[in-house]
Amino acid sequence: MPKRSITSVDMQGKRVLCRVDFNVPLKGLEITDDTRIRAALPTIDWLRDRGAQTILCSHLGRPKGKIDDDLRLAPIARQLSGLIDQPVTALQTTIGEDAKDVVDKMKDGDIVLLENLRFNPGEEANDPSFARELASLADIYVNDAFGAAHRAHASTVGVAEVLPAYLGLLMQSEVKTLGKLLHDPEHPFAAIIGGAKVSDKIAVLQNLVAKVDTLMIGGGMANTFLHANGKNVGHSLLERDQAETACEIMKRAKESGVELLIPTDVTVAPTIQSTKGIVKSVDTVDAEDTILDIGPETARRYADTIANQNTILWNGPLGVAENPAFAHGTERVAHAVAKTDGFTVIGGGDSVAALEKLDLADCIDHISTGGGASLEFLEGRTLPGIAAIPDE
Ligand code: ADP
Ligand code: MG
Repeated sequence: MPKRSITSVDMQGKRVLCRVDFNVPLKGLEITDDTRIRAALPTIDWLRDRGAQTILCSHLGRPKGKIDDDLRLAPIARQLSGLIDQPVTALQTTIGEDAKDVVDKMKDGDIVLLENLRFNPGEEANDPSFARELASLADIYVNDAFGAAHRAHASTVGVAEVLPAYLGLLMQSEVKTLGKLLHDPEHPFAAIIGGAKVSDKIAVLQNLVAKVDTLMIGGGMANTFLHANGKNVGHSLLERDQAETACEIMKRAKESGVELLIPTDVTVAPTIQSTKGIVKSVDTVDAEDTILDIGPETARRYADTIANQNTILWNGPLGVAENPAFAHGTERVAHAVAKTDGFTVIGGGDSVAALEKLDLADCIDHISTGGGASLEFLEGRTLPGIAAIPDE
């Protein structure tokens, strides 16, 4: 059953408390990447254009329930104001008389931004009285913060229990796209899972192995699969305690007829800082080697497989892509994903960064905005911020 969305409610003259994810990277007071702010614009524009009085709220960083002047939201309000070409008032508080005074003076179409929610200890504690105070500012609650949907906090769950609650447009698109991937994907469906550790993504692998036709493994986590298959991985990143998990995933793939691909060749070097690697078969890696990328033969096989899919999910770089010497596998996969006609979904900060470096982000059908939230969704878990919104 789809969740109730803002598209189903008349916003004219309504006061709307809208939870967004403005948890942007900062260098001092400067925003180094405003992707998250831009991702919320469809909902912000929607509310404004339909005559709502929009009270935006977000967390930023980890102030742990105390005021931290370095984590105020005023720079974000300025950035947003430039993007939408309209003044955005930044409050220095979240609740209380000062907040009420500002909100009481709002006119239809106005936008204000409350102070960092996590300055108040009630936010992360999901304190009902903090949630009620927040709710008292508005008539309607909209959650558009997919990146915070895996947290049961006052602004993601508590408020939804007090006010009529709706999904924003970004949330709606994330839930729809990731939900389709898990429950009704167009086959053939392949997932490429990379990144540093098996332990970060075990639950995702376990959930996906029952849903995909092909699972391709790369990155540091491939070493654990190679080790589980009796290969020598030298000094490579390896989680010995996950070898059994890797075996179990390979066994489940075999039982359910899922093709599970692991590297057949790799790029090795003495250290992660090396400026040049050499390509080896996985059978000839020796004790001095560190595996830092999938090899060209593996990259070609993965790229060819990607080209034949109707649905593709990619999460996690295939090697240490931050170092150009070990970025080849990730680049090859990025180009293949960008080029295919199949429906493509990417999640994970480092994978998205690799795509953006290659200027390929525009070629992807859906780039998920939630790191931890996307992973938990793909694990098949119920996210509290989504569960808190009533069905249609
Ligand atoms: P994402 O953010 O896309 O979900 P992760 O955070 O899981 O990806 O993993 C990215 C990290 O994995 C990068 O820092 C990268 O250097 C590391 N990584 C990838 N391959 C290897 C490898 N072979 N050895 C060590 N680290 C690796
Ligand atoms: Mg990452």
